[in-house]
Amino acid sequence: MKRSNHDVIEVRKARANNLRDVSLDLPKRKLTVFTGVSGSGKSSLVFGTIAAESQRLINETFSTFVQSFLPRFGRPDVDELRNLSMAIVVGQERMGANSRSTVGTATDALALLRVLFARVGAPRVPSAQALSFNDPSGMCPSCEGLGRRSEIDAGALVDRDRSLDEGAIAFPGFAVGSWFWSYFARTGLFDPAKKLRDYSDEEWELFMYGEERKVRLNAMNTTYEGLVTKLRRLYLSKDVEGLQPHVRAAVERAVTFGACPDCSGTRLNATARACCVNGVSISECASMQITDLADFVRGLESAAVAPVVKALVDALDALVHIGLGYLSLSRESSTLSGGESQRVKMVRHLGSSLTDLTYVFDEPTVGLHAHDIERVSAILQRLRDKGNTVFVVEHKQAIIHIADHVVDVGPGAGVDGGRVVYEGDVPGLLRSGTVTGDHLARRQSLKDGVRQAKDGLRIEHAKLHNLRDVSVTIPRGVLTVVTGVAGSGKSALVRGCLPEQHPDVVVVDQRITRGSRRSNIATYSGMLDAIRKAFAKANKVDASLFSANSKGACPDCKGLGILYTDLAFMEGMATRCETCEGRRFTTEVLSHRLRDKNIHEVLSLSARDAQAFFTEKAVRTMLDAIVEVGLGYISLGQPLDTLSGGERQRLELALDLGKAARGTDVYVLDEPTTGRHMKDVGRLIDLLDRFADSGRTVIVIEHNLDVIARADWIIDLGPGAGRDGGRIVFEGPPAMLVQSDTLTGRHLREHVA
Ligand code: ADP
Ligand code: ADP
Ligand code: ZN
Ligand code: ZN
Repeated sequence: MKRSNHDVIEVRKARANNLRDVSLDLPKRKLTVFTGVSGSGKSSLVFGTIAAESQRLINETFSTFVQSFLPRFGRPDVDELRNLSMAIVVGQERMGANSRSTVGTATDALALLRVLFARVGAPRVPSAQALSFNDPSGMCPSCEGLGRRSEIDAGALVDRDRSLDEGAIAFPGFAVGSWFWSYFARTGLFDPAKKLRDYSDEEWELFMYGEERKVRLNAMNTTYEGLVTKLRRLYLSKDVEGLQPHVRAAVERAVTFGACPDCSGTRLNATARACCVNGVSISECASMQITDLADFVRGLESAAVAPVVKALVDALDALVHIGLGYLSLSRESSTLSGGESQRVKMVRHLGSSLTDLTYVFDEPTVGLHAHDIERVSAILQRLRDKGNTVFVVEHKQAIIHIADHVVDVGPGAGVDGGRVVYEGDVPGLLRSGTVTGDHLARRQSLKDGVRQAKDGLRIEHAKLHNLRDVSVTIPRGVLTVVTGVAGSGKSALVRGCLPEQHPDVVVVDQRITRGSRRSNIATYSGMLDAIRKAFAKANKVDASLFSANSKGACPDCKGLGILYTDLAFMEGMATRCETCEGRRFTTEVLSHRLRDKNIHEVLSLSARDAQAFFTEKAVRTMLDAIVEVGLGYISLGQPLDTLSGGERQRLELALDLGKAARGTDVYVLDEPTTGRHMKDVGRLIDLLDRFADSGRTVIVIEHNLDVIARADWIIDLGPGAGRDGGRIVFEGPPAMLVQSDTLTGRHLREHVA
């Protein structure tokens, strides 16, 4: 019998997605970096195989990210996996939209702070719980600990030019004839034929804001309440996340949130707010910048709480060390960027005393300036030194260089990838001749000349978040890179203030709303319409048959191919539809063919294969653009919610690429190199150059030194993060930046040396 080596994780014949029977041994308690072009199969190997199996074994619920790589819910497609240890995935998923989660609750720092205040705060509170906004004894009663109160905009709920019978209530569930509608129109309280605008003040008050009162409806006794009162009760006490999408959209249109007037947004009740340590309340502590809070806590001298102070200082220092010192504990997790979320999660694990775990990271350097990357690489090494196995999917040279072991997946993307093209140490990679090896050795050079702008976009007196009254001109018709350490204010300036002062600016972003299970590349790009027409013409049938929400769709899964079982609080379970075997359409529809392929087979084509298949012009133009932005490996039917943020952004670029420039177009891109191999960064820059050459204004938030080197104009924010940032420290072309002494200037100088 073959004995297995316990110092390695043995993977035998992994086949998830595009993997071609990948077999390899991964050293335990070492730092392994997985490289390869986007779409080569890194995630399928690391998340879809290793992490998925480990998580399945320990019977944990799958995160949606891991789920998206599984063929269907269940075991990953691999012959054998031996010597796995428990895997912890530290990915970039945002930490959910639960507004009760903050940086403080997510890191446990807030719990320590409460213990501290409960011990030494004055006036005394009965317990640490009484300082928690998630506990009834501590929360502000009027906002229930949310810190916000909702206001309802009547104009978005009703059409005052109509009567009840004419459908005056414009909210889902209140259509004429519906049960909810009959409370208004059939209880004798209002004249259903009278237009709302003709209501008396009393009628209007009763209609909109009436408190509960007994009425008779269809010969039954029941309770009437005004429209706003009802909606408040039905929807506003809950997080909107849980609502059906169309209801949620309607709620979001009609409701605005403001700080709760009773607790001024602190979420706490009066007793909790009054409790102070050295004259500072717990909510003031929570809203301080973490660096300041660390200083405050360090300054506390009391033997009674020395261990708590130490634990808290350690937790806060860990956040500072990882470059998050500019945040505050009260910052809602849902407002953090993907990179920030990932680093907050890292901190949680650093404090853990468990060893022999497998940590899996997905591009931990996203959102980080070269300066911040040094800190992340230190943390990865520390996790390894504690006896853990660390796996990192990463493209940045600085991280590849600290690897003990490198697995290079490739050589290409999709069907052209899925193999291991190199495994071994970094010196070996440099000699390997693989795309990654070659690019690792290469240096970027500054461009000779830069484009000259005629005029610019002026931003005046920007003060959002940490910005210190910044006024700046961004040149038009050229490629501008906005850079600076994480938290310096780049997003505040370019994504906050710029579009506010110049409404014509397009932020090319992860704009696609996630969550729509029905959307895929073909529907979102509009290609499906043309594809449907082609099928209809070839088969002389109605085009609507080929739509996944028409009568041609599989009746059991309604054209999704997958059945979802929603479990109240957990993430839902997905299983493949048995009826259509995941093919989404009825057998009859699948019998219709376009040049030998049925609609399911066409939607399974990768964009590149589809280029060869389609002759229809409308489809071809879109496919060309999709391939051009580097998404040729994605299949037409791939659901949007399985795309990474970077892929979504590239899809947006592809959609815009086809349109003719109006000369005034302004594009803002946030870290477009995310998820891109060094080789693809060059192609991205070419693409951005083409946008600029066509007269568009391109503004990129980016840390990648290759991109900075090839920009026409640089705006560098800093010097530090949060309160220590928010100023412009450099404006000019790259050739001048390398001569400056800003952090970015120094790193660029080394990079192009
Ligand atoms: P990488 O991590 O190297 O970018 P991935 O493992 O994400 O690569 O993707 C490898 C291939 O598998 C790509 O062709 C990708 O489009 C495909 N793929 C990834 N996830 C899914 C999925 N959920 N459904 C279908 N194809 C997928
Ligand atoms: P960058 O884009 O350079 O990483 P940001 O513009 O995101 O920096 O952040 C600048 C400052 O503004 C930071 O101190 C950050 O914590 C703060 N900030 C950003 N977004 C919010 C928000 N939604 N609420 C409160 N503060 C924020
Ligand atoms: Zn309140
Ligand atoms: Zn089905």
